[in-house]
Formats: sequence, C-alpha cells, structure tokens
Amino acid sequence: MKDKQIERLIKQEELRQKKTISLIASENYVSDDVLKAMGSKFTNKYSEGYPGKRYYKGQENTDKLEDLCKDRALKLFKLSNEKWAVNVQALSGSPANLSVYLALVKPGEKVMGMSLNNGGHLTHGHKVSATGKIWNQIPYGVNKDTEMIDYEEVKRIVIVEKPKMIITGYTAYPRIVDFKKFREIADSCGAILMVDMSHFAGLVAGEAYPSPFEYADVVTTTTHKTLRGPRSALIFSRKDKTQTSEKGNQISFSELIDKAVFPGLQGGPHMNQIAAVAVALKEADSPAFKKYAKQVVKNAKVLAEELKNLGWKIISSGTDSHLILVDTWMNGKGISGEEASNRLEKEGIVVNKNTIPKETRSPMDPSGIRLGTAGETTRGAKEKDMIKLAKRINDILRK
Ligand SMILES: *Cc1c(COP(=O)(O)O)cnc(C)c1O
Repeated sequence: MKDKQIERLIKQEELRQKKTISLIASENYVSDDVLKAMGSKFTNKYSEGYPGKRYYKGQENTDKLEDLCKDRALKLFKLSNEKWAVNVQALSGSPANLSVYLALVKPGEKVMGMSLNNGGHLTHGHKVSATGKIWNQIPYGVNKDTEMIDYEEVKRIVIVEKPKMIITGYTAYPRIVDFKKFREIADSCGAILMVDMSHFAGLVAGEAYPSPFEYADVVTTTTHKTLRGPRSALIFSRKDKTQTSEKGNQISFSELIDKAVFPGLQGGPHMNQIAAVAVALKEADSPAFKKYAKQVVKNAKVLAEELKNLGWKIISSGTDSHLILVDTWMNGKGISGEEASNRLEKEGIVVNKNTIPKETRSPMDPSGIRLGTAGETTRGAKEKDMIKLAKRINDILRK
C-alpha cells in the first residue's frame, strides 16, 4: 500500500487479532475468500434498484451477482422461492430491522420487543434507537427465576396490548426460542411475527439450532456473527403475506420490504459486500460448516459448565447456543462487568461487558459479561480448550 499510516494500522490490527482470544459473541473470523470479495472492484459500481430494474447502466455482472446471492441465501435456509423472498441489500443488521418496520408498521403503532436488559437489541424498540422513537415499544422480558422466556407472560401482555408486530431473536439470550409458541401468540392478536436471527443464523444454517422459517413472517439476520460472513444483513419475507395499501391493493410483505430498503432508506447497495455475503453463504452450505456449528454449541456448553463449576453465576444456568451470559457481580460478591472485561483484556482475552436480567447497575458498568464461542471455534478450538479457557478466565477474575 502507498498509504503507510493505514497499512501500519491494518498490520497492527492483524497482529492484535492473532495475539488475542476473542470471546465476543457477535464476532467471527472470515475466510480469505470473503475478504477478497469485499476488496474487489465491485466496490466501484453504483447499482441503485434491483436486478433487471436499475437506474444506471453497466449492470450485467451486478445483476448476476445479486441474483446468485439471493439464490444461495434461500438454498442455505432450505426455502423455496415460491414462498419466500430475500433482500440482500441492507447495509447491516440495524438498517435491515429499520426497513422491516418502515415496510410493515405505521409510525406510532406498537411493536413488541424484548427489553435491552433482558437480552433484546436496541433496534427492537429501545428508546435511544430510531425504532423506539418512531414506534411504540411494548417491552417483554425473561422470568426472574428461570431467566428464560415466560411464554405465559408474553401471552398476557399480547392480549392487553395487541401489538402490530412481535419480535423474537435476541442479542444476549443464550437459550433456544420456541418459535411455534411465538407463532401461536402472534396469531392470538393477528400480529406479524418477525424473527431477528442475527446471532444464531450460522447455527440455524449448520442445523445446530431450530430454524424459525416454519413460523415467521419475516426473518432478519446479520451475516457477520455465527454466519461468518462480511458485515451485512439479509431480510427474508413471506411472499404470500400481504397488507392493504392506501389505494386498497394487496401488496406482499416482500414488495413492501424491497421498497423500504430502496428507495425508502438507502441509495446504492454495496455490491462488494453482496459478493462477500454470497461467498460466505456458499461456505456455510457445506458439511464442514455443519460440523463447525455443532462444535460452536458444544464448546459453549462446556465453557458455561466449567465456569459454573468454578463458582460463577451463569444466566439461565447454561446455554443452548454459542452465547453465555455470566453474572460476574453476583450481588456484590464478585466484580463488575467493566472490571471483568478490563482484566481479561489485559491478559489477551477480549469480551464485552453486558447487562443482565434484573440489572441493578448501569449499562456502562453492568453486572456481567457476555461470552461466545463462534470465533475461537473457527480457529479450531475444541472442548478441551474450553476447559483450559474457563480455568484461565477464573484465575484472571479472581486474582
Ligand atoms: C447484532 C444485532 C443487530 C444489529 O446488527 P448491526 O450490524 O450491528 O447493525 C440487530 N439485531 C440483533 C439481534 C443483533 O444481535
């Protein structure tokens, strides 16, 4: 590179990644092919619109690329293109979610999402997010004893509030979600069911976590977490679900979502990113990736169990996914999440501090940390490495 300053920073970041262990649950390590596609000359192309319906000329390769990416996305999640459509243009998870709201819910209407402390994402209607300013969030949480979703409680809230859309799929919830129950609850008030599988999409692809597609109307996901692709997002929607337009026509969710992404919210798609997503989707459609996804969950279960044996409080008492929430504060008997994550970073283990259900501290210095095994499993970690890692984490936190 001619730019030595940036080249040095890239080298230093490569070295940092090499020397540290990332247990950040939303991170992973992409393949060289994904990086190559990201850095390709598709970067130079403006492609506002959709394949066959673009505003600028010169689209013979971008049209093929975008169609191929869509085909791969549907194939990976075993979806027929008669029933499902997918939009691959959203720039990341948050704009993907915002597009779905814009498409399907009128400003001021109610969206029901899990609160941040209980594991929901900002874009599920939190007040600091645009989704919480434009729409009216009806929050739900986890049961205070089991720290798992209490479906009876969700049902009770739905009966009273009658939200327009219910969102499931979270950012810091380690357990399996019962999508069938959510479908029944959504049907009890005619709500749209949106599943945000950003965290566990790779596990669904690898058949290590239940697929939400049988029950959801809309499924959004980031592509850079367990799915191990570039930073981007996918929006899947049911073609047979419709809404009535102002003129009285029936318009499918898929059409409404495409319009919300472009021209509703964005201009030109990032075609280089779409190329990299396509690469990652093909990589995930393989026996090796299935093995990987299963190993991610096995590793997380071992790490959670070992930490528990060493005296740490694990939220919901364990995990069914790649993600573990540790209460390091333990009502003042331990250390805060900020302190824990700082100590770990000094020893080369990178994690994030995290709020826990019934949080008593502040988001900047909460009671816990969140751990994930997607990245380390990509690097080849197995159960025996998790046992060692748990011991190391324990030693560092108790020093
Ligand atoms: C990560 C995440 C997002 C947002 O993704 P960004 O790409 O960071 O905008 C949305 N929803 C959930 C559940 C997530 O975990």
